[in-house]
Amino acid sequence: MKIAIDGPAAAGKTTLAKRLAEELGFLFVPTGAMYRAVAWAQRNGIDWKRAKLEVREGGRIYLDGRDITDELANPEIDELSSKVAVDSEVRRHLVALQREIARGRDVVMEGRDIGTVVLPDAELKIFLWATPEERARRRLRERGGKFEEILEAIKRRDERDSSRTDSPLRPAEDAVIIDTTDKSPEETLRVVLELVEERRGKSCG
Ligand code: C5P
Repeated sequence: MKIAIDGPAAAGKTTLAKRLAEELGFLFVPTGAMYRAVAWAQRNGIDWKRAKLEVREGGRIYLDGRDITDELANPEIDELSSKVAVDSEVRRHLVALQREIARGRDVVMEGRDIGTVVLPDAELKIFLWATPEERARRRLRERGGKFEEILEAIKRRDERDSSRTDSPLRPAEDAVIIDTTDKSPEETLRVVLELVEERRGKSCG
């Protein structure tokens, strides 16, 4: 079974996808971290086209055999990754890699274009949403910083992700849209696990 989770920045996609994958015993694939890895490579003068990018256990990201996961979650890479994500050459390269990773496996893959482009045949597609203010509050709790700056950065990324011509952020037609503004991560997980059971029931019967 393939599960696609899309949505705007800081909507809780990674938290949900990781826990869901643990619950189900599926592979967790955070595609945003792959765009972040390309941005990180460019920033460090590494040729991303030749570098070996791997997603390992728990969604850890390796570039040329080195675990760079902890260097990917910061405001600079937030911004750079959403800029590299506009580049069609980068997208082609990463989409091919993402499909390759998912082939023949049960996966929970999260990003912006999973349900629309990467895995259009996914059995379950979720579009996670929350107000920009709520998303900024969550990011503030997670990383610290200044609320107004975080909110502005989130809005800037949303705008860039939604307005690009190649694979813009939007819900797939058959996606279930979940507004998580007033939901805890546990509540969201429960809702999605019920949907998984429902879809599994359908595919068996
Ligand atoms: O989800 P995350 O914030 O880690 O993603 C980083 C950036 O990568 C996003 O702002 C977005 O521009 C880009 N991205 C994308 N397509 C995906 C996943 C992420 O364009 N499937």
